[in-house]
Amino acid sequence: MNCQNCRTMTEEGCSLCETCEMRFAGTLLRLARDVTPLHDSLDATLHPGGHSPVRIQTATPPTPIRLDVLDLIDMLDATARELWRCLDGIDALDWRKDKRNEDLKATLIACAGHPRLATFTDAGLYMHVINDLARKVDTVLDPPEQRREIGTCELCETMLTAGAADQWVTCPVCGREQRAQTVKLRRLKTLCWDDSERGSAADISKAFAVSGLKVSRKTITTWEQRGKLPRHADGYAYCDVYRLLIGPDLTKSVR
Ligand SMILES: [Zn+2]
Ligand SMILES: [Zn+2]
Repeated sequence: MNCQNCRTMTEEGCSLCETCEMRFAGTLLRLARDVTPLHDSLDATLHPGGHSPVRIQTATPPTPIRLDVLDLIDMLDATARELWRCLDGIDALDWRKDKRNEDLKATLIACAGHPRLATFTDAGLYMHVINDLARKVDTVLDPPEQRREIGTCELCETMLTAGAADQWVTCPVCGREQRAQTVKLRRLKTLCWDDSERGSAADISKAFAVSGLKVSRKTITTWEQRGKLPRHADGYAYCDVYRLLIGPDLTKSVR
């Protein structure tokens, strides 16, 4: 059988491969964690977004409740309960038979840990719907202005943006899901492939930090003192620092 999400071959009787099952469960757990901040974002006088919201004065009297957020919570709630019923083999439309009364957070957690998550018939479909909702929740909690450009899509070269805590990004143009860290490292590698790119220890340390790679100015100057890193007239080459930092093993794992 093929995984309904990524199409790789998977065990007989499975709708999702192990990787997709883990990602599906991870997204459900992340959504469970987002339920409280999402409810907090309902208040329209709060600056939308983040886990440390700031109260603002708006120029016009605001709608007391953000209706877009309310709709999103409703949709997430309905989807999570429907998914749980599906997992337990209760007909999705026959909701009256479902006597459970858990809150949304508990429902999401129950789905994430459900033994049939990878084997029920519509796993791929629900994974898709849940991913879509997770993306909308991210936009509410991390509004676009708080997201920054991290690099381009591996398929279509569209510039992708992500919030600081995002592990995965989905390309808005082609829909390809990719690891945020991989996108950042690929961007960095592009910078490093051009061996004419030079900078001071501080420049390089700062540029690498954006991509989540930690190398201090001191480390860079120490490498030079130990003869590992050549210093050119116009500074260090990004590619040299990158090679020293990543080492041969890691370079292979980053596409
Ligand atoms: Zn898969
Ligand atoms: Zn794309």
